Amino acid sequence: MLKILDSAIPVACWSCSVAHNESTLFCPNCSKIQPPPGGDYFSVFGLEPRLHLDLDILEREFHRLSRKLHPDRFARAGENEKQWSLADTALLNDAYRTLKDPLRRTQYLLKLHGAEIGEEHAGRDPQKDAKDPVRVLPDLLEEVFDLNMQLEELRTERKAGAADPQLTVALEAARSKFEGLLKVVDDDLHAQWRVWDAGSESERRAAQNRMVALLDQRRYLSHLLRDVTETLGAE
Ligand SMILES: [Zn+2]
Repeated sequence: MLKILDSAIPVACWSCSVAHNESTLFCPNCSKIQPPPGGDYFSVFGLEPRLHLDLDILEREFHRLSRKLHPDRFARAGENEKQWSLADTALLNDAYRTLKDPLRRTQYLLKLHGAEIGEEHAGRDPQKDAKDPVRVLPDLLEEVFDLNMQLEELRTERKAGAADPQLTVALEAARSKFEGLLKVVDDDLHAQWRVWDAGSESERRAAQNRMVALLDQRRYLSHLLRDVTETLGAE
């Protein structure tokens, strides 16, 4: 059921016919380039699907494979191999971009395990969903409400040409507070990474649910902070 398991399916090399792991870009037997593999992004780099990733290995493998896929190496190759080198390069770049970024990596791995994240929640309006503090931050409902009121007030006062300096001070304090909350969410997210990587099946499921909620909170808080910074900066 999990797409992640597909990476173990052996396929035969088009050139030498020896079976190899589906996720490899080059045949381990004859070294010939292979069509874009169907496995997950982790297996492209020969990495275990984990949230704590050895970024040195990731980067080293990325550069090694990029060099091997360089178009110059396929100048005299057949048409198929030329096409595959382009398609494999695109896949390699996507995989690298996704895995090196902690948030993208988390979302990607959770989605592989069937999690519905953010805008992809079935049957929900994404616009409305992203602005729904009742669901995302029930404990902070009052603070979020106050903050949005103050933002609206500042915009109105600025339009009228007279902004209350106290309001700016209050909004700067609120910004610090919400930045602190974002840090708490990130710390929690990293703690859940450890559980997910090392935990039992049930611990992993609990960590996954927690991370989906944390990613929602992160998205909401980032949105809010951007709003505050833009409004404060627009003098
Ligand atoms: Zn081969």
